[in-house]
Amino acid sequence: MLSPIKIILLLAVVAGVFLIARMVRGAVKKGGNPVDTGYSNEKDEGADPTEMEKCPNCGTYVSALEDHRCKR
Ligand SMILES: [Zn+2]
Repeated sequence: MLSPIKIILLLAVVAGVFLIARMVRGAVKKGGNPVDTGYSNEKDEGADPTEMEKCPNCGTYVSALEDHRCKR
């Protein structure tokens, strides 16, 4: 049988691991993905029209028509 002290210690260890994992995740989120911001479709439009397709609906140049949604 497990003694109450062992159970409490086990819970403490689990809680500690949980908190550490949370802190690590928070730090990764804070310092993470700088690529995501500032990289939008609007920037792509002016990049290289020769390698891009022109949308037949709105005339915007896009790298992939499948991913493109016309602005309304
Ligand atoms: Zn379009």
